[in-house]
Amino acid sequence: MEVRLATARGFCFGVEAAIEQAEQAVREHGAGHVVALGPVIHNEQLVRKLQQAGLNQSGDLDSIEPDQVLLIRSHGAGPETLERARARGLRVVDATCVLVKRAQTVVRQLHEEGYHVVMIGNADHPEVRGVIGYAPGVTVIDHTTDLETALPYRERLGIVAQTTHSPAYVAEVIAKILQRPYRELKIVNTLCLEVTRRQEAAMALAREVDVMFVLGGLHSANTREMARLCTAAGCETHHIETWAQFEPRMAAGKKVAGVTAGASTPEWVIDEFVRNLQAI
Ligand code: SF4
Repeated sequence: MEVRLATARGFCFGVEAAIEQAEQAVREHGAGHVVALGPVIHNEQLVRKLQQAGLNQSGDLDSIEPDQVLLIRSHGAGPETLERARARGLRVVDATCVLVKRAQTVVRQLHEEGYHVVMIGNADHPEVRGVIGYAPGVTVIDHTTDLETALPYRERLGIVAQTTHSPAYVAEVIAKILQRPYRELKIVNTLCLEVTRRQEAAMALAREVDVMFVLGGLHSANTREMARLCTAAGCETHHIETWAQFEPRMAAGKKVAGVTAGASTPEWVIDEFVRNLQAI
């Protein structure tokens, strides 16, 4: 089978830095002494590898022992989590991506400037849960939100978005907000250019192949968004984690396949997938 790869795909600098920090922390403090609060990144294969190297994981800050080191994942954490960690005297290694950190700072500044902060994002995503902690009463809106009921009337809105959203989607939501009578909207672009580049490359490829494979964690927001965009571009698209989930029916009757991968998908997962697909 002919296989074409997206020109931008796989690991971003934020994920690379988070993995490096996790590995460094384990080297420094020893296996079993560093605990990540939730998965460091949304990729099971990599999380498993880090666990094998000695990184522990917990969803509960209170279960971390005082002699252990807390690792904040790439998606960041809210200020109350950091305060609780400090109050318990835990040592903290902060692997929050710099772009997520910037979104946290922007939210705090917008609030200080008197704006009612609105975040376009998925309320259940760890990045969003953390970012909205930096100002009180942030309104989170996604495509299912009824703006009529969700958006309180305040004259001045400060708007940010989840880093992994597509510019087109964010523009669509902002256009809807504009139809309502707010006197001032301040929009700060918190989208991640690494993600935007991968989305553009994926959509371009989706237009020239018979089937698209988007590789990456099923919970990874940027991978899911890429799969959504490829489907919207009119191409049959399969979002799977690794070659193990490939089924022959996915390639049946197809001549040219496109492959791309989310920002947290390791290169070896892509290589293995491409090799096997080419052999069909
Ligand atoms: S996708 Fe962007 S925001 Fe997310 S970790 Fe990578 S560089 Fe940071």
